Amino acid sequence: MPYATVNPYTNELVKSFPDATDEEVDAVLDRAQEAYRSWSRVPVAERCAIFTKASQLVLERKEELARLATLEMGKLYGESLGEVQDSAASMLAYFAENAEGMLRPKSLENAYPDQEVMMLYQPQGIVFSIEPWNVPYYQAIRAFAPNAIAGNVVILKHASIVPQCAAAIVQVLHDAGLPEGVWQNVYATHEQVERIIADPRVRGITLTGSPETGSKIAAQAGKALRKMVLELGGADPFVILPDADLDFTVACAVPARFWIGGQVCISGKRMIVVDPLYDEFLERYTTSLSPLHPGDPFDPTTTFAPLSSQAQADIVKAQIAKAVAGGATATEVGDPIPPTGAFVQPTILTNVAKENPIFHEEIFGPVPMIFRVPDVEAAVELANDSPYGLAGSVWGRDIARAVEVAKRIDTGMVSINQPYSGPNALPFGGVKNSGYGREMGYEGMHEFLNHKPITLPAGTSTRYGATTEEAVVVG
Ligand code: NAP
Repeated sequence: MPYATVNPYTNELVKSFPDATDEEVDAVLDRAQEAYRSWSRVPVAERCAIFTKASQLVLERKEELARLATLEMGKLYGESLGEVQDSAASMLAYFAENAEGMLRPKSLENAYPDQEVMMLYQPQGIVFSIEPWNVPYYQAIRAFAPNAIAGNVVILKHASIVPQCAAAIVQVLHDAGLPEGVWQNVYATHEQVERIIADPRVRGITLTGSPETGSKIAAQAGKALRKMVLELGGADPFVILPDADLDFTVACAVPARFWIGGQVCISGKRMIVVDPLYDEFLERYTTSLSPLHPGDPFDPTTTFAPLSSQAQADIVKAQIAKAVAGGATATEVGDPIPPTGAFVQPTILTNVAKENPIFHEEIFGPVPMIFRVPDVEAAVELANDSPYGLAGSVWGRDIARAVEVAKRIDTGMVSINQPYSGPNALPFGGVKNSGYGREMGYEGMHEFLNHKPITLPAGTSTRYGATTEEAVVVG
């Protein structure tokens, strides 16, 4: 796809951007490697100060950043503002406040009788991040912040439909004092992505996207023997147990599925409801969706925005048609969508049989699937009957039982009586076709660090006294 801003509300081309040349890609790699040499020696406290400043600058520029996100990928302006404040700024601040502790070397004095061990967590060089458009600032910073604050440098290849968001967020970091080359945005073609992956200076690749893209990039990374983190799609179960508080659960189930028009990896895409509650849940949920009001995403009265692009809308419409052809019941909800723009009529799918080809698919749009199951056992079985395993949620008053159910859900993350939100301090990632490795939290920060023990004969040193700064310098 060429890099371009196309307003999904009107489908009009606003601005296009040329692909990078091969020479520009080479220059990006050279600058990144050069920057790594000095950035990895910058004391962690100094890096943290830049991140703190960047967090403040993100907040100062929140209106402009939010405007670009809504312009380029169409979500409600209020959702864009929320992303800028609650995700982008807060993640930068989180790592600024916690990085020193998360990077501190460990002194394992009593690990072995004849040894002293110094455990270091050292950066390695260039991390290449390939990101999707749905939360353009959150995604970019989720890959950048924990890696760069630990001394790695990052090259960003963002989705081709959010070129201005990509440039704007990298600019914020530079304006906060980030040295040149530590985070670079490149409008790379898919062929150039493969070239970057193959460059021996690149030490890690993190991709967030679809499983199809994940498979292609992982093959390229495998060929080049590069470590990867894969954050892929999800078809998260939203499991409603017999004792769920229906008022509360329905109120949460609407945003859980319709946030960003359903274009969220951890959205509750499969609502699994035990039989005694099914009819009432379906009726109340359908009623709750009827006021959805499609329109201009910048208009504060709009409650339902276009999808990110006409191409994405066409994919979702084709999936609805496939589901219906496979025997599902489609119930359209909300006000009628406008005739122009990348809109899809919100649609509830019921009676989705296991034989229906949509059963095992992720629908990245405003299309919840609602399943009736006889009991809790069947709910767990259905929740796990998916090629995906990203997140999920369990709803019920008996917390002990909800915890037992949550333990049995085969996904990377689970929440109880709240939609999974992905807090900064916790590892984010999935199992099965939802990917491998983690972003965020301690685990995410350490994915592309070298966990390097240095051993000494016992008694050589009782205290190493290594500071974080000393520990992160390498080469
Ligand atoms: P996508 O098509 O896989 O694109 C994601 C990124 O990969 C974009 O930057 C895209 O660039 C690039 N890309 C695609 N094909 C490529 C190729 N052959 N070679 C090199 N780069 C390539 O994903 P999407 O449709 O935009 O995003 C939706 C998917 O992402 C959903 O499945 C969603 O669940 C998943 N997602 C997962 C998470 C998570 O944290 N697990 C978060 C958000 C979204 P171009 O734009 O240039 O094609």
